[in-house]
Amino acid sequence: MNSPRGLIIAIDGVAGSGKSTTAKLVAKRLGYMHIDTGAMYRAVALKMLRCGVEVTDSDKIEDLLHNTLVSQKEVDGLPHVLLDGADVTDEIRTPEISLWVGPVSENPRVRKHLVRWQRDLGKNGAVVLEGRDIGTVVFPDADLKIYMVADLKARAKRRRKEMLTRGIDQSMTEVETALQARDERDSNREHSPLRKASDAIIVDTTDLTIGDQVDKVVELARKMTTGGARS
Ligand code: C5P
Repeated sequence: MNSPRGLIIAIDGVAGSGKSTTAKLVAKRLGYMHIDTGAMYRAVALKMLRCGVEVTDSDKIEDLLHNTLVSQKEVDGLPHVLLDGADVTDEIRTPEISLWVGPVSENPRVRKHLVRWQRDLGKNGAVVLEGRDIGTVVFPDADLKIYMVADLKARAKRRRKEMLTRGIDQSMTEVETALQARDERDSNREHSPLRKASDAIIVDTTDLTIGDQVDKVVELARKMTTGGARS
């Protein structure tokens, strides 16, 4: 391969399109680090909720961000999220946090801090970052950009199944409505809205298995490393 550091792979897309699962497995196959940026926004949202910090209180937000540490570690082969050292993997994925993370991630101070963390984590390459603004804002020069989409029904089915494994039982309609509302909010916000980067490759996962999705991205990455993407 041309670059000794490894690629920066950006995976963006709508909620429930399979970004996390794909990013995690692609990173494993390539021996890269996986960074779930949505988990970072969720962890900050959880901390703000716990500390009673309003999205409008810029000073308190600034203070909270300076005293917050979000990290990721693998437990039994699964990615876990730590907030100030405590495991919050389940707490950040409740319907309540999925709702609250919208307004939190619209806040420019929150975004500024998190983008800085993400750039710092990814700057040495050999990394797969997934989120909403990775290929457009965090790493606009990423070596490989993927934009994942899937039909709403397929996404809701997957998300419902995943929530059931965590003991949360919502109807298909509830899950579909929540996903749609989040996509609309993410796409229409003022700062760093969800957008496909002009040079991103669309991967529609509606009819793909997880194995297919991973193979597709790994193949694109391998082509880049053997084809002279970055010197
Ligand atoms: O990826 P996930 O669905 O866990 O992300 C949760 C929320 O965090 C998104 O709906 C979005 O509002 C926010 N987010 C963001 N920018 C990112 C990643 C996530 O605004 N890069």
